[in-house]
Amino acid sequence: MELVDGVYKIGGVKAVDLAAQFGTPLYVYDLEKMKNQYEKLERAFQGTKVSFKYACKALTNLNILKYFKDLGTGLDTVSIGEVQLGLQVGFDPKDIIYTPNSVSMSEIKEVVDLGVHINIDNISILEQFGHEYADSVPVCIRINPHIMAGEHSHISTGHIDSKFGISIHQMRHVERVIQTNNMKVIGLHMHTGSDILDIEVFLRAAEILFETAAMFKGLEYLDFGSGFKVGYKEDDVTTDLQELGQRLSKRFSEFCKEYGKELELWFEPGKFLVSEAGYFLSSVNVVKQTTATVFAGVDSGFNHLIRPMFYDAYHHIVNVSNPKGTPRIYTVVGYICESDTFAWDRKIGEIKEGDVLVFHNAGAYGFSMSSNYNSRFRPAEVAVHDNEAHLIRKRESLDDLTKNLVMAEFEVLT
Ligand SMILES: *Cc1c(COP(=O)(O)O)cnc(C)c1O
Repeated sequence: MELVDGVYKIGGVKAVDLAAQFGTPLYVYDLEKMKNQYEKLERAFQGTKVSFKYACKALTNLNILKYFKDLGTGLDTVSIGEVQLGLQVGFDPKDIIYTPNSVSMSEIKEVVDLGVHINIDNISILEQFGHEYADSVPVCIRINPHIMAGEHSHISTGHIDSKFGISIHQMRHVERVIQTNNMKVIGLHMHTGSDILDIEVFLRAAEILFETAAMFKGLEYLDFGSGFKVGYKEDDVTTDLQELGQRLSKRFSEFCKEYGKELELWFEPGKFLVSEAGYFLSSVNVVKQTTATVFAGVDSGFNHLIRPMFYDAYHHIVNVSNPKGTPRIYTVVGYICESDTFAWDRKIGEIKEGDVLVFHNAGAYGFSMSSNYNSRFRPAEVAVHDNEAHLIRKRESLDDLTKNLVMAEFEVLT
């Protein structure tokens, strides 16, 4: 969002106009920003055989999936539903990887029939898969290198007690299963968490993957998952892409020489591609002064943007209705009937009831984690492209709350 001549604009369109035209609460995505992020990744790994699979659980709107397909990304999916959405917008199954956790063998079989890459993250399924398909369906194996990433332990998936991946210490067992069932392993995968800040940590995990790779002769790709950090607060440290790209590319190319074959380097960025491109617009219903706090109560809650309550995430908030307003201190709360706080003690341009607040970094895990809690409708979604706003999902209505309901006839027993 830019402040142009005293007016806040998202992708060239006035934020207050978006709120007026489409109503609030509203998700707005700036497609150009997504493209820029993708190009940053491409630049950082220039010269390497690299492929980026957009991790679509971050934002699953079909228009966004289609946009990434047109940009040239692949797709990272965690459910058969996501695979089907990807196929629906025309992704080639070969460009989709299915990386589920704790799913049934029956779902995995259905996904095999769709022709996408299968990533297996536990030995039980690996055995069942080998028994079923032997070498007729190649697999990728998800490894847990036991590397801790980031300070937020709940979005770190590589540590010792994590439910994700097969422990690096179980590779002998994996080898047995592979050999006994004559399986074909074409990829190794790791995804250590959401915040890789420390390039050294990332490279250490990479070494573990390289070492493990020596065990498998028929590899085609190594998938390093995600972990690209984006800034939420102004002074947040973000991943130094250029440095990571140069160092990992160099090491990867050395590894390929040792391995004796040029493999592909894969990544699965979600947040990095869409977080900063997304904005969440909400109107202030009530300004309420209590003994110690000024609350700004908005027409939304954790049913629409759960990250502050769920992850204690920080989302920068701007009052776009009052760009020149004197900054005052507010606690921004939602309308859900329980603790529902977006932000404590924030300096925001003076707020009047009816003003529109814009939450930054709302592209990733915003709409895709929204719910109907409190029987509230999910917001509309708008994509801004080439200075024009396009509605890409209608706001829900009462029908959406009741369409799957079945009214049974229960009589009160007397
Ligand atoms: C969620 C997820 C990602 C994307 O993570 P971000 O933090 O959004 O980049 C990548 N790979 C896998 C397997 C995931 O589950």
